[in-house]
Amino acid sequence: MLTKKLMVCIIKLSASEVRIILVHISVDQLINKPGEQQEYTFTMSAGSLDLIEEGVEFAEPLSLWLTAIYNNGKVLLKGTLRTKVNLECSRCLQSFCYPFDGSFEEEIEVEDKAVLEVADLVREAFYTDFPLKPLCHIFCKGLCAACGANLNEQQCDCRSDHVDYRMLVLKKLLDQD
Ligand SMILES: [Zn+2]
Ligand SMILES: [Zn+2]
Repeated sequence: MLTKKLMVCIIKLSASEVRIILVHISVDQLINKPGEQQEYTFTMSAGSLDLIEEGVEFAEPLSLWLTAIYNNGKVLLKGTLRTKVNLECSRCLQSFCYPFDGSFEEEIEVEDKAVLEVADLVREAFYTDFPLKPLCHIFCKGLCAACGANLNEQQCDCRSDHVDYRMLVLKKLLDQD
């Protein structure tokens, strides 16, 4: 097993072996420069972070930008995570490319730590900011409930039969006058 003592930022094995990449920051480096912001960038594959989700296909590796500042026994970490994933639209069921953009901020006590392991924070940020109901477009019209046609691409014949409840309420109000 890999231990937390490893002072390595990224461990790269041969392509087929890549399993877990450690995203580590040296605490000593930060303690030596209190109040001074340090910046880090990492690029990693989704598989190496164990980000395997059903129906989610990563179109590019994950990019992580990190800043860290040490003050009074604590390190303030701020991260921005970006990647592109191919998802299925929750309305029209078409596959589309979703530009993922997530962020996190965490203050960590580092009294007895030599390195900070960031992979868990990255994983958490990914799942927190991941859309529960992804949409190919905010105005995606979805599928026709009757014939299943993709209403972004075509207007089916059964569409005129659809009852628009908002119009129904309006009509009722007008009829009352
Ligand atoms: Zn859609
Ligand atoms: Zn239809």
